[in-house]
Amino acid sequence: MAEQHKNFIGGQWVEPSSGDYFENRNPAKQSDLIGLFPRSTREDLDRAVRAAKSGFEEWRRTPAPARGDVLRKVGDLLSTRKDEIARAATREMGKTLTETRGDVQEGIDTAYYAGVEGRRLFGHTVPSELRNKWAMSYRRPIGVCGLITPFNFPLAIPTWKMFPALVCGNSVIIKPAEDTPHTVQLLVEVLEEAGIPAGVVNLVHGLGEEIGAAIVEHPDIPVISFTGSTDIGSIIGQTCGRMHKRLSLEMGGKNAQIVMDDAELDLALEGVLWGAFGTTGQRCTATSRLLLHDRIHDQLLERLIERAKKLKLGYGLDEGVDVGPLIHEASRTKVQEYVEIGKTEGTLVLGGEVPTGNGLDDGFFFQPTIFTDIKPGSRMATEEIFGPVLSVIRFSDLDEAIHINNEVKYGLSSSLYTRDTVSAFRAFQEMDNGITYVNAPTIGAEAHLPFGGVKQTGNGHREGGWEVYEFYSETKVCYLDYSGKLQRAQIDNYDASPY
Ligand code: NAD
Repeated sequence: MAEQHKNFIGGQWVEPSSGDYFENRNPAKQSDLIGLFPRSTREDLDRAVRAAKSGFEEWRRTPAPARGDVLRKVGDLLSTRKDEIARAATREMGKTLTETRGDVQEGIDTAYYAGVEGRRLFGHTVPSELRNKWAMSYRRPIGVCGLITPFNFPLAIPTWKMFPALVCGNSVIIKPAEDTPHTVQLLVEVLEEAGIPAGVVNLVHGLGEEIGAAIVEHPDIPVISFTGSTDIGSIIGQTCGRMHKRLSLEMGGKNAQIVMDDAELDLALEGVLWGAFGTTGQRCTATSRLLLHDRIHDQLLERLIERAKKLKLGYGLDEGVDVGPLIHEASRTKVQEYVEIGKTEGTLVLGGEVPTGNGLDDGFFFQPTIFTDIKPGSRMATEEIFGPVLSVIRFSDLDEAIHINNEVKYGLSSSLYTRDTVSAFRAFQEMDNGITYVNAPTIGAEAHLPFGGVKQTGNGHREGGWEVYEFYSETKVCYLDYSGKLQRAQIDNYDASPY
């Protein structure tokens, strides 16, 4: 009998009120049942909200540097448990151990960065326009934050949201993706061990359309942070708009790597292999389009096919594996549908099939797939696939490449390979993305820099860096008048001069 896991509410591990659970299985080996996780209901959520409101009252009064100290301890504990958590993440998410170790490291970096920000929650002190009057602003916590996270970075993305929210003095309720609940359970165990007070961090497992939607609609959760697909983000945006909630959305991408004719081709080749097929293409920053300059198109494509052919598919915990499975059957079905679309819009030059044998039949594997002759504006060139499928597009000059890069509804990351600094700076200036890399692939975010995208990838907020601390806090302005008389701003200092 598989282990039944619990929710974490008010500092206690508790069973779901319904008694219902959902299965969590290994996407590389469907016969491997990882555990049963609570299928929580509105009743569980109400309980979590009560706990989080009470936790907030205590935590918001805890000095921010002391809150940061807890996060530093979390960083230490995550470092100690890095390998164990990475293994659990690979087992439920599928990507290789090297990648999940990177995922946990990002959480460690985010914890230490948050720990320091506890001493730097800057406000401003500025001169008042009136005599004997003090004017300043400071950052104030908001309340209970609802955090809804996707499967693909099961550790890092929850920490991007949770740690800054906590350092700012909020309490949180997190609902992880139903595909990767175990990794977040381990993260919450670490927070508990680090001494986070009861009620400040609450974990409520369950299905997106049930408990995810209930979090978004709960009147006592004023802040929602969501990372996931653009379709679900749009639904959440409508609810939050109606309910006047503060909302951060991080959604889909259709990221391009552009290779100029003066590029270092070996470097560009390594970049696209990692960007397109790492994490089985299931990254918001995955390289989904490869734009090749006419003069190097055939040469680089030939080398790319040779290398991509050799990528080893398998279980991410096994030695030598490069590419793991897709997350579930629905995801593989979607990839297969795009392969059919690709056959009508371009030329299939690699992959396109479900692999069989070699222990792959029990998982949701799909061959690394490359299409050439893809035209800008086509579905393969504009829609997010979220799998190991690369669309190759030809161009003849940088202006054309920038135009193609920008011609999609998403705007997360982009990459340009060139030796020319003028081209590099033109790319920084002209590409409509939240992140542009030069001579590096479309993936590679660092914890202390803002992360997010423009257009339908986001709604203007950022995770990571200082910006996320602005999202999780309110600016409060404080005036103190010690003149001992009524001073009317904009009036007494101009029309009736006090000088
Ligand atoms: P998803 O949208 O299916 O699910 C994300 C989360 O939302 C899950 O926890 C899910 O349970 C929950 N959810 C589903 N329906 C909901 C509803 N009606 N109300 C509230 N919550 C609901 O996404 P996914 O398949 O887990 O992740 C893949 C998507 O995430 C891709 O589109 C990818 O580009 C995007 N993503 C974006 C970023 C970024 O930073 N921009 C990072 C990672 C992933």
